[in-house]
Amino acid sequence: MTQRFAFSVSATDGRARTGAIQTPRGEIRTPAFMPVGTAATVKAMLPESVRATGADILLGNTYHLMLRPGAERVARLGGLHKFMNWERPILTDSGGFQVMSLAGLRKLTEEGVTFASHVDGSKHFLSPETSMEIQRLLGSDIVMAFDECPALPATDAEVAASMRMSMRWAQRSRDAFGDRPGHALFGIMQGGVTPELREESATALKAIGFEGYAIGGLAVGEGQDAMFGVLDYAPGFLPEDKPRYLMGVGKPDDIVGAVVRGVDMMDCVLPSRSGRTGQAWTRRGQVNIKNARHADDPRPLDADCTCPACTGYSRAYLHHVFRSGEMISGMLLTWHNLHYFQELMAGLRDAIANGRLAAFVTEFEAMRAQGDIDPL
Ligand SMILES: [Zn+2]
Repeated sequence: MTQRFAFSVSATDGRARTGAIQTPRGEIRTPAFMPVGTAATVKAMLPESVRATGADILLGNTYHLMLRPGAERVARLGGLHKFMNWERPILTDSGGFQVMSLAGLRKLTEEGVTFASHVDGSKHFLSPETSMEIQRLLGSDIVMAFDECPALPATDAEVAASMRMSMRWAQRSRDAFGDRPGHALFGIMQGGVTPELREESATALKAIGFEGYAIGGLAVGEGQDAMFGVLDYAPGFLPEDKPRYLMGVGKPDDIVGAVVRGVDMMDCVLPSRSGRTGQAWTRRGQVNIKNARHADDPRPLDADCTCPACTGYSRAYLHHVFRSGEMISGMLLTWHNLHYFQELMAGLRDAIANGRLAAFVTEFEAMRAQGDIDPL
């Protein structure tokens, strides 16, 4: 197994690419979807179950882990991989996004951000340097640069000023990260929905040099049309030979649209969060298992799905355990959702490799348009 971090593209189809990221902890097939393990767990799932769905990499949240149980404690206990029993690659965010969303509870300066913990109100400070140190203590394989994602709505001048500070923070993140073979630091492009600012941001990041590049500041409420509008040009500002990561995306149709536009990696809480609220994602769209029409339905959620929820249980059972507040409800629906998302990624990778992405997208849309199976 390689001791280096490396990315290679094996096939392209239009702007879409498929390939792999090599890391000392294993290969990440791209395009990749990363389940979110906020508090050192993908909620309702054992790590081996997450792996069984086809996930090559997980995302962990610096903000949550620094507050509880604390990065030093995780380091003393052998690092995040050992702590949560996941030996494969982990990407950690920088903590910036979550801190920025603590409106009213934070103070932002050029140096960094002071904020109050949502857990116990204690005061903390995050900066490019402290974020790099926390992510090093966690043992993350892919470390994200510390940046600011401006709250919307924002004027062009506000977006530009914020982006330029994020670029200064990107340089400080690079300097603080140091030389760590086998680990990667990703820079984050900002610039809102303005092409000139996106290009300026990408140029600044490329001058610093990163092992991968994220497209930040999207999936924050701007809507799919605006997001796809940025993805129509922004990936083109980034190096061809480095992975491109779209943060916080998304719904299945967001994922397909992003991959078509040249994105290699994504993450989202959606499949696991939906699983706990009775929402299933299938090839035929969203299914609300709470709905009374499932109460007597002996059919599986998706007859063609090979996950444990679909091979072992009826819609009637899934409906019953959700209505009864049983824990197995969240477990089964989360498993199904993660399985579906990973199957979607595998389908996209295969389609790109075989030069039939357009046909794959047509079929994806046709299945969704059919809607869920008719009630009995
Ligand atoms: Zn299933």
